[in-house]
Amino acid sequence: MRLTQLPLTTLKETPADAEIISHQLMLRAGLVRRLSSGLFTWMPLGLRVLRRVERIVREEMNRAGALEILMPAVQPAELWQETGRWDLYGDLLLRIRDRHERDYCFAPTAEEVATEIARRELRSYRQLPVNYYQINTKFRDEIRPRFGVMRAREFVMKDAYSFHLDQASLDATYDTMADAYARIFTRLGLRFRKVDADGGEIGGSRSQEFHVLADSGEDRIAWCEGDSYAANVEMAPTAPADLPRPPATQSLARIATPGVRSIDEVAAFLQVSATQCLKTLVVEGTDGGLIALLLRGDHALNPIKAERAPGVARPLKLASPERILTVTGAPVGSLGPVTLKLPQVADHSALHLADFVCGANVADAHLTGINWERDLPLPTAFDLRNVENGDPSPGGGGALTIARGIEVGHIFQLGDKYSRSMHAVVLDQDGKERVMTMGCYGIGVSRIVGAAIEQNHDANGIVWPEPLSPFDVILIEINPKKSEAATAAANTLYNELQNAGYEVLFDDRDARPGVKFADADLVGIPHRIVVGERGVKEGKAEYRHRQSGTEEQVGLTDVLDFLRARREVPRQG
Ligand code: ATP
Ligand code: MG
Repeated sequence: MRLTQLPLTTLKETPADAEIISHQLMLRAGLVRRLSSGLFTWMPLGLRVLRRVERIVREEMNRAGALEILMPAVQPAELWQETGRWDLYGDLLLRIRDRHERDYCFAPTAEEVATEIARRELRSYRQLPVNYYQINTKFRDEIRPRFGVMRAREFVMKDAYSFHLDQASLDATYDTMADAYARIFTRLGLRFRKVDADGGEIGGSRSQEFHVLADSGEDRIAWCEGDSYAANVEMAPTAPADLPRPPATQSLARIATPGVRSIDEVAAFLQVSATQCLKTLVVEGTDGGLIALLLRGDHALNPIKAERAPGVARPLKLASPERILTVTGAPVGSLGPVTLKLPQVADHSALHLADFVCGANVADAHLTGINWERDLPLPTAFDLRNVENGDPSPGGGGALTIARGIEVGHIFQLGDKYSRSMHAVVLDQDGKERVMTMGCYGIGVSRIVGAAIEQNHDANGIVWPEPLSPFDVILIEINPKKSEAATAAANTLYNELQNAGYEVLFDDRDARPGVKFADADLVGIPHRIVVGERGVKEGKAEYRHRQSGTEEQVGLTDVLDFLRARREVPRQG
């Protein structure tokens, strides 16, 4: 494609509203344009990248035996009512009403529609297993769309739904999908990890996520090289300490702490570490009352774990300060388990504290030198916190490492959650009706484009992994109006490369060389060939590799051989 025919508007300045590098570069390189909150238009260059992702995803899904279909993006409310999710899915669901006053939603996912198809199409166990997939637009009314296409409201997802007679068949397809995902992300040139995950909204039993490793990731993942344990931090369990609790050395004291509330303030005021403080959080309980959750001061509450704690209401809801004051008589910021008249659940590491500090349940006072069993009874022990870097791996193989990740894929075993409520059955060997068992498998196709840039950029712009690049080669002609010989040479090369199967972006614009070089770096195509008057006189072009920055003179007639020798065989099709 000639750049004179592609109105490419690159931006020098970093757009103010783009927080992370991939979003900035996608806007600057003209890959996408924002239409409205969480809504993006894929411009020609960006769409080429998206299509390349789709293509690899499609090839590997087909290779894994999945069947491509295309479901409507608008789904009738009745199906969602059958599974109960019309009420449960909440505000992420964009609800629509048609001219007949019938309710619909715009697909955020498609378990219901896939199950509807399966219950109509599939009659006999002989037809199973079946794995349907599509690559299609989804809409989720995200509370905080951000990071451009990474957390958009409208986005492209590959979603697959498999149907089975029994668990063994589901296990086999689940493993096949896990392998296919690993192939996909490897082919895309991404550094990724597969981790154990929470089933979340969709529900079910076994579930794993695929994360692209990047500091800008919204998720945290934990792994241990020693035992191959890997999980989303949401999921990774912590255990009670191996060692006995240290003995008490201080006596209980009450200290005036005027205006001191947060753990940091308490630690600074009393000159102790946050690890010596106890944090008290109050949440709603299942019986309409309140429950106190106790954590070590430096630890973060894990909401998914907390929801599983005895007596805690789902979804987890922090009690309001007013409610806490009414029920306990203590203001928020002064809470502590001693004398607190609420059921209490403590994290394992909170129970390992000795001589600790906490609120006194009255304003402006704290207790120090507190010890379990001496000053207050032991509450219920539970795993309530996020794992931290260095915590022991649940696999027993050493310490956990924690890194940030971007979730690009998620596979689930759904069991019969949807097939049972929607009565999706087949006849088994004995002619008896059996509810099918299901799996589902998602890939964030459009999110991958952003995630890939997070991992592949430098100070000058994007550095595409070859399989994702919008073009294979960028050909730049220097000062096109100046030399007919150079123009002729550049055009000959353009045709030659295209005939050999390369996708070439030809910068034939009448622009300054510096502008062209900067745009080429920004757009990030792996191989750059420059043709100019001086070189053409010597029969030479100049090659530059975007990633390594290496430059070489190449004979004008040798460019094809040169690219081929570098492995750069054109992609098929
Ligand atoms: P997240 O935790 O990031 O909100 P999710 O777990 O809700 O994602 P899934 O239901 O597992 O998402 O959807 C499958 C895939 O779709 C995700 O792994 C992710 O790559 C992608 N995805 C989900 N939400 C978005 C979004 N708002 N924008 C772009 N991609 C998304
Ligand atoms: Mg997910």
